Amino acid sequence: MSDSFQASVARSAALEKRLADEPASLRMLTGDRPTGALHIGHYFGSIRNRVRLQQAGAEIWQLIADYQVITDRESVGAIRDNVRNLVLDNVAAGLDPERVTMFTHSAVPALNQLMLPFLSLVSVAELQRNPTVKDEAKAAGITSISGLLLTYPVHQAADILFCKANVVPVGRDQLPHLEQTRVIARRFNERYGATFPEPDALLSDAPLILGTDGTKMSKSRGNVIELRMTADETAKKIKGAKTDSDRVITYDPEGRPEVANLLTLIALCEGVAPEVVAEEIGDGGGGALKRRLTEAINDELAPLRARRAELAEDPSYVVGILERGNARANEVADDTLDEVRTRMDMVYS
Ligand code: ATP
Ligand code: MG
Repeated sequence: MSDSFQASVARSAALEKRLADEPASLRMLTGDRPTGALHIGHYFGSIRNRVRLQQAGAEIWQLIADYQVITDRESVGAIRDNVRNLVLDNVAAGLDPERVTMFTHSAVPALNQLMLPFLSLVSVAELQRNPTVKDEAKAAGITSISGLLLTYPVHQAADILFCKANVVPVGRDQLPHLEQTRVIARRFNERYGATFPEPDALLSDAPLILGTDGTKMSKSRGNVIELRMTADETAKKIKGAKTDSDRVITYDPEGRPEVANLLTLIALCEGVAPEVVAEEIGDGGGGALKRRLTEAINDELAPLRARRAELAEDPSYVVGILERGNARANEVADDTLDEVRTRMDMVYS
């Protein structure tokens, strides 16, 4: 485990304590790109923590990161459908639209404007070193990285800091970005006076769920089990998941990452240890492993799927949630931008 990962794990553990002792002191911001429907990597890596924070009494901000869609592709794709799907997936998974501010980048100009002073606080070399940006460029088959992709972590700092969030539930891939946000907050505070908190990541027990091809499960990689899939579609996807040729099932995350991933998913659904699941399946092999996972996922997601189908019937439902969320996000972003201008001595009236 690298030092910086270990430090993040320690800070995440401290957050857990704060969540138990003083949940009202926590303000959460997290986001998804509207590049497709949400999948079980989101569910176990982040959404269960979002819901847990909400239930504990933290303030919840949920961003639909629409400008970040065009970091790694030329077309926005089916963005209107994708935005709608993200709202439905999050609400069906348990985010309460009465308590959550759900908003889109493109509707909150003051948030985006924060990127200008923030860009002045980072160097090009620092941005070029970000491992997640490199991975995402590689995964998208990009040889020439756009300015927006390179500066994506700075935009993300604006997402988190405009509402002064102090907790960000994320998967492991997002840790370098969160570190960049902490650095930006620190440098801004040093230069212009204390303004922003340094947010911490809240990591889940499943910080990196693999997809059916054995690489990170990602909307853009075609290797996902979507939350909204039917039970049959789920079964088919799991049947095609990569495993290995060893007949006996063992839990060995280093040596057998694909099998370990499927065991982890069963363990997360059933609330048992993956080693125990492996023992139980034993020489039942990949077939038994996949059958058990299919049942576990379909059971876990059945209530979410039923609720989602109900919510999807009323097209105005999603529109209303976003209208309210965008209005609130604009109020807060305008206040923060005013504060930033004041700190920077840029108020001329
Ligand atoms: P894209 O392929 O468009 O980048 P994505 O599937 O990576 O989509 P994002 O919208 O980039 O999804 O990520 C949303 C959140 O979900 C982030 O906090 C990210 O860390 C988390 N997340 C995404 N994929 C996984 C995964 N496979 N395992 C755990 N967490 C994940
Ligand atoms: Mg991603």
